[in-house]
Amino acid sequence: MVQIKQFLFQIEPSASDAFTGARSWEKEAEQSWLCGSCGSPRDLSKAIEAIVVPERRKSDLDFVYGAGIMIASTKLLDALGTTAVNKWCHVGRVFEESGAQLDGYRTLIGRCRLLIRGEQCQYRVCDECGQLIYRAIGRKYVLPPKCVAPLYQSESTDLLISPELYRKKLARMKLNRVDVSELDVLQKPLDGLPARLVKLLP
Ligand SMILES: [Zn+2]
Repeated sequence: MVQIKQFLFQIEPSASDAFTGARSWEKEAEQSWLCGSCGSPRDLSKAIEAIVVPERRKSDLDFVYGAGIMIASTKLLDALGTTAVNKWCHVGRVFEESGAQLDGYRTLIGRCRLLIRGEQCQYRVCDECGQLIYRAIGRKYVLPPKCVAPLYQSESTDLLISPELYRKKLARMKLNRVDVSELDVLQKPLDGLPARLVKLLP
């Protein structure tokens, strides 16, 4: 029997020039939905409005430094289709400190998350929020998702897109300053840890 290779397309910013959150917004975030210790959102169940330091941007997918949320261009979101995006992501607005809305961008929090695992890894448990912080080393892959979706957010700020959705909506499009690669879906982890990492939590 021929085994069909399973994979997702991984879209990530090609330059590490993330948006910087406005200081007052970050302070407020740390008192509510953001863990100040590991920089991961504690609450992924709703859209987040971001207030950022104004900068000229050209990336179609970016993130807010230290806040674990993606910022996508409306060009990318329109290409993916409003229905799919709203079904699988929480979408929020982006503002500058002056109060002006950055109309070409939205915050994005995936409703289904997938951890990118490595051939090896480093991990720790955040002493403040108790989340497992995992860093993949070497060959990267994901395990079969429990939530079947056409798009996911990685536990970091990458968009993971099914081959069907990618080929239909994005393949012919020129995306600015993002890297697109194939991420294998493997049946078993290679990092020597259990498939379900919650087992590592105290
Ligand atoms: Zn934390």
